[in-house]
Amino acid sequence: MNIRVKLADFNHKFEISASNCSARLPAGAVSIPENCVVEPSLPEKIGFRYRFFHLHSENEAQKLLNLLIHKTGADLTIVQPGEKWDGRGIGRWWVISEPFNSAREARTFSEEIARRLPANVPGRMRIEGGLFSEYPPHPSQNVRILTKDGKELCSDKIIRLHAPAGITVKQAPVGETFHWEHLEDLRFSGIIEIRPGQNGILIINEIPLEEYLASVNSSEMSAHAPLEFLKAQTIAARSTVAATKGCHHYGEPFDLCNGDHCQCYYGVSRIHERSQEAAELTAGLTLVHDGVIADARYAKTCGGVMETFDNVWENYDPPYLRPKFDGPGQDYLMEDPGSYISDSPDCWCNPELYPYPDYFDYAKPYFRWNFRYGNQELAHLLKTETGIDASEISDIKILRRGKSGRIVSLKIIGEKEIKIDGELNIRRAFSESHLPSSCFTIERTGGDFIIKGAGWGHGVGMCQMGALNMSLAGHTCAEILAHYYPEAELVDFFKS
Ligand SMILES: [Zn+2]
Ligand SMILES: [Zn+2]
Repeated sequence: MNIRVKLADFNHKFEISASNCSARLPAGAVSIPENCVVEPSLPEKIGFRYRFFHLHSENEAQKLLNLLIHKTGADLTIVQPGEKWDGRGIGRWWVISEPFNSAREARTFSEEIARRLPANVPGRMRIEGGLFSEYPPHPSQNVRILTKDGKELCSDKIIRLHAPAGITVKQAPVGETFHWEHLEDLRFSGIIEIRPGQNGILIINEIPLEEYLASVNSSEMSAHAPLEFLKAQTIAARSTVAATKGCHHYGEPFDLCNGDHCQCYYGVSRIHERSQEAAELTAGLTLVHDGVIADARYAKTCGGVMETFDNVWENYDPPYLRPKFDGPGQDYLMEDPGSYISDSPDCWCNPELYPYPDYFDYAKPYFRWNFRYGNQELAHLLKTETGIDASEISDIKILRRGKSGRIVSLKIIGEKEIKIDGELNIRRAFSESHLPSSCFTIERTGGDFIIKGAGWGHGVGMCQMGALNMSLAGHTCAEILAHYYPEAELVDFFKS
């Protein structure tokens, strides 16, 4: 089974390097010299679709479709996103619109729909849509491959590059929009596909799922980690890929992106003997709940308590993603986020009690962290990051927190009052890149705002640093998974 991963969408030409490389085109194969240049075409017009809340039965989707069509007369259909995995569905259905010409048109439509619907839409059928860009199936522009001195080797709508020893994409982006963002030469096995993209050139890597997983476990963490941890990480990654395949990038010609949005994947240079071993030892093993693949999310450091799915993404509350304390200590009852954040609870991801190995030094500052901003500095930051012009900020009010203390809604009070919803939007608003997490408190000292926080990432599902420490303390992969995904069974889902 192959998986298609977006590596980049460049708006400029870039270089690739590979020996014995050939480009497969409808007219035949073209031999590609060791170093060459790929040129962008102009961006193709992108269509947008609107997705309503995803539903877990076709019957629910049909009911919502009927209700929406009856109330609005809109042109809608039901889809089951993602391909079938060995004949088994991924357990969700969407009601989607026909494509629009622009994101703005799609947004206007979704607002219109929201206005016309009755307030009493049944719970699970809450309207919680999202926009999806849709690449046209037959882009009119070509991409071109040239020698380094500018001679055209081939030009086509889709070029698929094959090279037995792998292909290096020069200066590919790593960690986009995060504080570790940089460019790096990355090597990939499998097929590199280039085609017109939203920005210019879309680069996709098509590789066998298991090889992808071997790279993900070391790209996400480190191949030096204990094998039991790498196995747990691989199973979680396999499960979440299978549970969401085709959902995160619906309408786009790839299954996943290679950034933090889906799963970090930086090619075969990151594959280590141990990461390969972890993938082989767990081949096919997947977490399943109630006959459906579990969406086994994970994040770097929970901070002490794990968050629920519905506080971060949409209205979905699977029993295997619980807001539980990341043990082994006594259950921590979070009464006051302020004292929780200044406390040092007995949880697996606490580096003071369970020291991280040297190769994870970089993660230590994110269990508990703080930032200090002057009033003007914070107002400027909000303006550049979100476009919000709060001018003088007089107060920031927390409206709602999730079970892990993560803020999911807050209000900034300045000359105007502005509400920010969503943990990721909140993390983006208060930092040039992202705050480590949205579990924080804000205090005012003099004219300054002091932000004190806990954890790194959304906090849903497996806490990677906690899981690593569990493995260092001698826990097995099965014990780690049972701790982070209670009620999910481990099965060889793809076995016939
Ligand atoms: Zn993605
Ligand atoms: Zn944790």
